[in-house]
Amino acid sequence: MAWDFSTDPEFQKKLDWVRDFVEREIRPLEFIYDDLTQEQLERIEAPLKAEVKRQGLWAAHLDPELGGQGMGQLKLALLHEVLGRYGVAPEIFGNQAPDSGNAELLAVGATAEQKERWLWPLLDGRLRSSFALTEPFVASSDPTAIRTMAVRDGDKWVINGHKWFASNADVADSVLAMVVTDPEAPPHARAAMIVIERGTPGMEIVRNVGTMAHPDPSDLERKGRAGTHAEIRFRDCRVPAANLIGKPGEGFLLAQRRLGGGRIHHAMRMIGQCHRAFEMMCERAVSRETRGKALGQHQMMQDLVAESAVDIETARLLTLKAAWTMDHAGGKIARKDIAMIKYYAAKVLFNVIDRAIQLHGAMGYSTDLQLEWMYRLARAMRIADGADEVHKVTISKEVLKGAKVKQGWPTEHVPTNRAAGFEKFAELLEQRVGNL
Ligand SMILES: Cc1cc2nc3c(=O)[nH]c(=O)nc-3n(C[C@H](O)[C@H](O)[C@H](O)COP(=O)(O)OP(=O)(O)OC[C@H]3O[C@@H](n4cnc5c(N)ncnc54)[C@H](O)[C@@H]3O)c2cc1C
Repeated sequence: MAWDFSTDPEFQKKLDWVRDFVEREIRPLEFIYDDLTQEQLERIEAPLKAEVKRQGLWAAHLDPELGGQGMGQLKLALLHEVLGRYGVAPEIFGNQAPDSGNAELLAVGATAEQKERWLWPLLDGRLRSSFALTEPFVASSDPTAIRTMAVRDGDKWVINGHKWFASNADVADSVLAMVVTDPEAPPHARAAMIVIERGTPGMEIVRNVGTMAHPDPSDLERKGRAGTHAEIRFRDCRVPAANLIGKPGEGFLLAQRRLGGGRIHHAMRMIGQCHRAFEMMCERAVSRETRGKALGQHQMMQDLVAESAVDIETARLLTLKAAWTMDHAGGKIARKDIAMIKYYAAKVLFNVIDRAIQLHGAMGYSTDLQLEWMYRLARAMRIADGADEVHKVTISKEVLKGAKVKQGWPTEHVPTNRAAGFEKFAELLEQRVGNL
């Protein structure tokens, strides 16, 4: 029997340890996270990260030769479901974006020298990084449209252009940027990835953009904290040729390596957030009464609970199936499933948190609960790492690849099929009439 919904008992023990650790050590940090300076945060996180490393769970998404566990996507998905409950948990487990994706890109594209310089310190948590693809003046959902140029001049690349929404760029030691190196090449062979180190003349962090999560990013800036999204100008920024990752024209290929598995972990973290919002919803549903009975006994509130329960279960199973497909058939075959879960999990997350807010009334809208904060973050998930619509395009393209053109009447045309049915069973029908 190939279908199996159970978790390997040995791995379940690990998950139980993670769940206990996350609730006991990380949950309390969640509630003071925003108040801390970077230095205070690092002091609290250091022993927690050391414990995760002792348990062999640090950067578990990486292959064993990079210090990870090579545990496969299904187990990683289950791990990320637990981590997703609290926003800070992934960084304590060495999985935080954008560093995790950048490490995956460097792992496949960087030379031994480049790995020494940027990958190993990144994996150790000694360096912080940023990823800059999106540009303010082109629709960056289509990366073939990007305009930031890198022109070769002797042993340097000279970069000119404009990026924004580069998460953590203002605190990062390096920015991994996607730049056009071959404007005349076919669209998917025009770009490359290049590392620009902090302080390189010609790279200006213009500002951190205010967002729904942090309308005023100056608080994060004062504390030296990550979580910002920078606008960056490159003006004749001269970067050593040795900083180019892979070859000119390989940018798209490498960008793809940041995705795939990463999207499964993203989706499972969203399911983890859903569980948390749902538990809040259920606690309130049985704890607060109106018109003589608990909220949860009113049918319209039951609708919120039931819709959420089914949504979460559906998104969870779909995500685990994508992980299973990736483990058994590879990323190419899992492409449709991955697009489905990135879009669907983000939608479910948004809806579940919205319903939890509704069921809590004014308290749900207040900062007395984390729901309003979770809601603001959830909104970003429908845009970041590919807007919903872009994933829907991928899904329908993949689905329609399997559809066949039919000339004339559709395959399910009733009159045609009735005639065929009568013809197929004509003999039996006639016998029956004869027996009567
Ligand atoms: C919190 C957050 C963090 C981010 N971090 C990073 C980062 O670290 N590095 C980085 O480079 N970028 C980052 N981004 C940017 C993100 O990747 C882009 O916003 C996203 O790819 C969409 O690009 P765009 O904003 O240019 O939207 P556009 O491409 O202008 O698209 C606008 C809207 O048009 C619609 N649309 C787009 N394409 C299609 C289509 N083919 N069919 C139908 N509708 C379509 C969608 O609704 C989309 O939301 C981040 C964004 C957020 C919100």
